[in-house]
Amino acid sequence: MISFNKPTSVGKESVYMQQALQNNHISGDGQFTKKAHALLEETIGVPKVLLTTSCTHALEMSALLLELQDGDEVIVPSFTFVSTINAFVLRGAKAVFADIRPDTLNMDETKLEALITPKTRAIVVVHYAGVGCEMDAIMEIANRHNIPVIEDNAHGLFGKYKGKQLGTFGVMATQSFHETKNFTSGEGGALLINDKKYIEEAEILREKGTNRSRFFRGQVDKYTWVNVGSSYLPSDILAAFLTAQLEEREQIQSRRQQIWEIYYKELSAWAEENHVQMPFVPAHCEQTYHMFYLLFPSLEKRQAAIAHLKERGIQAVFHYLPLHLSPMGEKYGGREGDCPVTEQVSDQLLRLPFYTNMTGEDQKRVIESLKELSVQ
Ligand SMILES: *Cc1c(COP(=O)(O)O)cnc(C)c1O
Repeated sequence: MISFNKPTSVGKESVYMQQALQNNHISGDGQFTKKAHALLEETIGVPKVLLTTSCTHALEMSALLLELQDGDEVIVPSFTFVSTINAFVLRGAKAVFADIRPDTLNMDETKLEALITPKTRAIVVVHYAGVGCEMDAIMEIANRHNIPVIEDNAHGLFGKYKGKQLGTFGVMATQSFHETKNFTSGEGGALLINDKKYIEEAEILREKGTNRSRFFRGQVDKYTWVNVGSSYLPSDILAAFLTAQLEEREQIQSRRQQIWEIYYKELSAWAEENHVQMPFVPAHCEQTYHMFYLLFPSLEKRQAAIAHLKERGIQAVFHYLPLHLSPMGEKYGGREGDCPVTEQVSDQLLRLPFYTNMTGEDQKRVIESLKELSVQ
């Protein structure tokens, strides 16, 4: 069976985890957490990075830091993972769903302004498949209305839009290190803070509402309860695992690029003959090779492709069900036809097996099996 995903592994993870144990510091914010923070801050160019237990938790932190309240509205693409909006709904916010562009499957920036009301308190964008949203247009609209932007950058670590790193546009951005992402610690995430005014509160929030981070830096002589908070810091064992992978980022990304380019090259002619749409990456975007997807002409044809591949021992999957049509989305007034592109893409999209350690042989089997399929 060729599975759809296998977690990235570089080999040095277990060595670093052993070192964390030898350091006698396996709770949060040990040496490896500090290493990961510094590495991410330097390579991405953000003032502050805080590792978290997941991207979902980093999103929850951003909702708390924006002090969202009952009735505030948050605009998100309908085509995304539930956490992108659930974190805000958890604070009482109302979900407002934006449709996506048919080419990059990112939030359609031309539909954004019409969704803004006096109650809009945040715009959350997702750089789908690690291809940047149209950030010039989105930031111009957000700035004109004075609405903070949060980037759910779960797919987009080290990607760029017009030469600028994804995750550096909004007031904050969130990363995921779930096992399905390019870099992983099994479960894990990070909050990237670009607007420095949130840094101190974020540290407090992540440390159970205490000023413990200031205490460890010697800035206060005791630590105490100063605000509401929770526990969002991962064990240093997980940070050690992650650090091993982040240090190998160039090797990981170049292998993923290779796999992506082979799919693209080998499937182009077949896709054109069969009216299957290939992924689109605008020239001004440097993508992250997070996934390889295809858009089939219809739901029936997509389902037939899944069954065809399954018979050949290949697991291909689809996502996301339109959020505006989910039971929760309907509670916020979501109706069929609200986001037509999302509704269509959700029926058409298929993700091929794609992971860092995929062998050339396995990839060849996927490509040849797909080519047996005549879609028309
Ligand atoms: C994976 C993912 C998340 C959730 O990440 P976790 O680390 O599992 O919480 C959120 N948003 C998007 C777009 C994702 O792909």
